[in-house]
Amino acid sequence: MKAAIVGGGWAGIAAAVALADAGHDITLFEMAPQLGGRARSVVGEPPYDNGQHILIGAYRDSLALMRRLGVDPQQVLKRLPLALPYPGEPGLRLPPGSPLVAFTRGVLAHRGWPWPARLGLLTTAGGWLTRGFRCDPRLSVAELCAGLPTAVKRDLVEPLCVAALNTPAPQASAQVFLRVLKDALFSGAGSADLLLPRRPLSDVLAGPATAWLGPRLRLGRRVQTIERGGLVDGESFDGIVLACTSVEAARLTADVAPGWSAAARALGYEPIITVYLSSPGSAMPAPMLALRDGPDAPAQFVFDHGQLGGAPGRFAFVVSGAAPWVERGGCAEAVLAQAQRELAWATPPVIDKVLTEKRATFACTPGLARPPAQIAPDLWAAGDYIDGPYPATLEGAVRAGIAAAQGLGKGANGAASGSPTKTP
Ligand SMILES: Cc1cc2nc3c(=O)[nH]c(=O)nc-3n(C[C@H](O)[C@H](O)[C@H](O)COP(=O)(O)OP(=O)(O)OC[C@H]3O[C@@H](n4cnc5c(N)ncnc54)[C@H](O)[C@@H]3O)c2cc1C
Repeated sequence: MKAAIVGGGWAGIAAAVALADAGHDITLFEMAPQLGGRARSVVGEPPYDNGQHILIGAYRDSLALMRRLGVDPQQVLKRLPLALPYPGEPGLRLPPGSPLVAFTRGVLAHRGWPWPARLGLLTTAGGWLTRGFRCDPRLSVAELCAGLPTAVKRDLVEPLCVAALNTPAPQASAQVFLRVLKDALFSGAGSADLLLPRRPLSDVLAGPATAWLGPRLRLGRRVQTIERGGLVDGESFDGIVLACTSVEAARLTADVAPGWSAAARALGYEPIITVYLSSPGSAMPAPMLALRDGPDAPAQFVFDHGQLGGAPGRFAFVVSGAAPWVERGGCAEAVLAQAQRELAWATPPVIDKVLTEKRATFACTPGLARPPAQIAPDLWAAGDYIDGPYPATLEGAVRAGIAAAQGLGKGANGAASGSPTKTP
């Protein structure tokens, strides 16, 4: 099959590699001058990432894709047992071992919480486990966790929710949150581990993918139209994977699949702001600290790049669910003040760079109808927003890319190649 992939983020890379490995003749169109999409590095010395990214041990398919491209995850990612330390507080930390036992031991050992809070969390988590981590799809995370002690909501549920779903707990889907917890905490040893990039993001996947794909890549090429019969800007293909953003996918399918296009267009978005501060000679007690956000404190997490193989004295502050700060302005200055209040600095920090992604992820709200992967037998979509159990994550994108490639490949084996597209 001659297949086109439109978009070279992690979903497009995953689709391209899977199709090429299945023996298909592929062409990947990417409008930017480089691969990587939202998970790319931007110019700087050393480069900045377009937002701090965290992976976890449960990102099985992302790790396999790295290995396929010749990347050793141990070289490019720092693996740490899950811990949520706050400045001056050890916070929750999971000891090594089977995740279920580690979670129980970690919660019981968390002296920062009174006993009723620890037992309350274990009882509630036991209930989630018994119900198979499923709940009413209309529930928000805040509703799901309403009965939990305040300290557990403040120190664990709210930061995990905004980190994983990029949607504040009152608006976030409880069902998706439970699925993330299930995969992180209960799907095998090491699944909850934090994997923090210790190389620029482009070295983690996009750079090696560029070398691997070689002449099959068309960089700097924004696809303008797709048409029935597998036409991409007039060039004929047997199948297409749309791995561009949902906004672009909606535009490209407006005529060929109006129903699907409307579903993609209907998604809402949440911003993320990353504020890089510089403070030569400063270091944190751990590579990552959680922070308590509030009306004058935008950031929920901070990362010390000096401990992550990057520039010493460079710190990345992450403001997830950042819509109020985009509207209000002044986020970087508020982060600077938050940092000065909460962290011990060797030299006064200064703002180094501010990156605002207004459409960082789709808003992961209860009962959300996400567009399906199959648009037509020879037209599939891939991306972190496609219907599935995960929020907008690298792993969600990679799994969607693989699923689209498999779907297209099956169609190609079952139907005569070049058959006209039937739109739903
Ligand atoms: C600041 C930030 C922090 C994040 N943190 C995390 C994190 O810690 N952990 C995590 O798992 N996830 C995180 N994410 C989410 C993660 O980055 C995304 O889920 C993932 O990168 C999405 O990949 P994708 O391939 O679906 O889409 P994208 O990366 O958006 O890729 C789409 C690609 O299509 C291209 N394109 C668009 N239109 C066209 C066209 N017409 N023709 C050709 N090419 C086109 C674009 O240029 C782009 O390269 C974060 C995202 C942001 C923005």
